[in-house]
Amino acid sequence: MIETLQAQLGDKVSVNAYELAAHGRDENYPSPHPPLAVVYATERADVVATLAWARAAHVAVIPFGAGTSFEGQVVPQGPAISLDLARMNRVLRIAPADFLVEIEPGVTRTALEAALRYTGLFFPVDPGADATLGGMAATNASGTTTVRYGGMRPNVAALEVVLASGEVLDLGRPVRKTSSGYDLKDLFIGSAGTLGVITRLTLRLHPVPEHVHTLRVGFTDLAQAAEAAYAMMASALPVARLELLDDLSLRAINRALGRAYPAQPTLFIEFHSSTAESIAAEAELAQELARSAGAADFALARATDERAAIWEARHKTYWALVSQFPGHTYTITDTAVPLAQLVPMVRYAQELLVTLGLPGSIIGHVGDGNFHTLVATPPEEIERAHDFSGRLVQRALALGGTASGEHGIGMTKRPYMAAEHGTALDWMRRIKALFDPDNLLNPGKIV
Ligand SMILES: Cc1cc2nc3c(=O)[nH]c(=O)nc-3n(C[C@H](O)[C@H](O)[C@H](O)COP(=O)(O)OP(=O)(O)OC[C@H]3O[C@@H](n4cnc5c(N)ncnc54)[C@H](O)[C@@H]3O)c2cc1C
Repeated sequence: MIETLQAQLGDKVSVNAYELAAHGRDENYPSPHPPLAVVYATERADVVATLAWARAAHVAVIPFGAGTSFEGQVVPQGPAISLDLARMNRVLRIAPADFLVEIEPGVTRTALEAALRYTGLFFPVDPGADATLGGMAATNASGTTTVRYGGMRPNVAALEVVLASGEVLDLGRPVRKTSSGYDLKDLFIGSAGTLGVITRLTLRLHPVPEHVHTLRVGFTDLAQAAEAAYAMMASALPVARLELLDDLSLRAINRALGRAYPAQPTLFIEFHSSTAESIAAEAELAQELARSAGAADFALARATDERAAIWEARHKTYWALVSQFPGHTYTITDTAVPLAQLVPMVRYAQELLVTLGLPGSIIGHVGDGNFHTLVATPPEEIERAHDFSGRLVQRALALGGTASGEHGIGMTKRPYMAAEHGTALDWMRRIKALFDPDNLLNPGKIV
């Protein structure tokens, strides 16, 4: 069966066992399953050809970016082809005057950063992995600056997608706003390869801020740190990043990266200020708010390399934590709640870890009401971590929140879709059937 695909696409098709295994797993889903073959697309025509073959052969197709997702999104649930887009990685057009860049889906976050280096512009969405922009759009990813600049949806102006039928659609327009028709662009963002394959993106860029300062604030108690985060969000401070790390994370960072941060619950806060003069006043107000919540320790970083070191540590927190528990399995939660529920939610997660006797670390984009708990268990005890994760989702939903702030639904969060969306889930299924009537694209995910 695969021979006919190989006959069409030649050495772009691989059945090498190592490559199959690498495309049958993600960063965290505990049940890997290799695809039948991997197609390494280098142009849109390869995507169209793979889908034509899949329609004829009745075999599923799963788009694949960098495989850094967490929820089983790229893991086949039956016979499937993995359609790897990483080699479609050209930056097609940088249009600084329009604050736009047009790229292929396999461009990674850091490759885009490098391509924009001398433009005075940047793309703000920065997940902690070197994901592809196609994968980031497909998961509606976000990152540390989302609190100020938004996640993928507001930062993608236009998309080209190939449907299961082979039809190519242009969605959105390269404009700053539009009120034209149903917003299919936003429907495809976050659809995790279940509705179409993204083959081109037009992204919005932002001027690199001139006056940036970063504050590291230590607390004796994690809930106090969450309270301070809430107070900062309620102030007029120009918060551009607002990240919470617990003492366990700081200890892991110190050990893995050779740092000497005080091992205490900490907020990393970045401000993008309008003038150099405003920095001192902003830092003072931020410290005052943090002090009222119980902050014990402050450090201001204004130099570029000092700030870079802080955000490097934040981006590497996951790996630092994982390296602390060799041989263990990690379960990562991703709930988000309305901001006023952030403190009760953090307290609940802390107490539940203690009640269930689980080692876990709480880190997150608290300015967005979104945090992760990383729970380490020996593989044979993973059900205990899943129990924790399930209870956390239920509490988030009860507080008006969501099962996934940024990682997506994939396989692991599917059981909560009905509770979160009610009858709207049925309409999601109808939308899936409309775009992909033969259920060829990433079947079994989301709906
Ligand atoms: C250490 C670490 C830190 C992380 N931090 C964050 C974070 O801060 N914020 C965050 O949001 N996520 C984070 N993630 C999760 C992950 O990086 C994101 O979900 C990312 O967007 C996935 O991109 P990818 O290229 O790896 O996609 P993949 O994992 O390859 O695919 C993800 C989904 O997108 C689909 N897909 C991929 N490419 C396309 C395409 N061209 N067209 C259609 N569908 C496609 C796939 O089918 C799959 O369903 C982190 C992961 C790690 C390992």
